[in-house]
Amino acid sequence: MNMDKKLKVAIHRYALWKAYNGKCFYCGGFIQTVYDLEEEHIIPQKYKDKPTELEKILKEYNLWEDFDIDAYYNRVPTHSVCNKRKGFKLHRTESIHQYLNVLTLRSVKVATITFILSVMEIQEH
Ligand SMILES: [Zn+2]
Repeated sequence: MNMDKKLKVAIHRYALWKAYNGKCFYCGGFIQTVYDLEEEHIIPQKYKDKPTELEKILKEYNLWEDFDIDAYYNRVPTHSVCNKRKGFKLHRTESIHQYLNVLTLRSVKVATITFILSVMEIQEH
């Protein structure tokens, strides 16, 4: 991993933490530092390599066809314990729909913070 990539990851994780006011998406508890933060994909990342299964899931959940697993709206900050507790199970449809309302709003915040931090970083060099 080169420095640029590491920096991008750090910026993103900080933005994620900040956009959710430092709170775990699952338990609502405070995530002490960015280092305790685990990034959770609501629709698990593994489906990226399984387009047929993904298509089925998206239909089942009534999500848009070009749903992007890597997009901000699919990524939330969690404690690593809370993330492990959830494991690889998929969420119930009702939960996904409830989540998405929150996530869509928050993702704008994540994108904005990431953008601001990136610009600041560029200006420092
Ligand atoms: Zn938690």
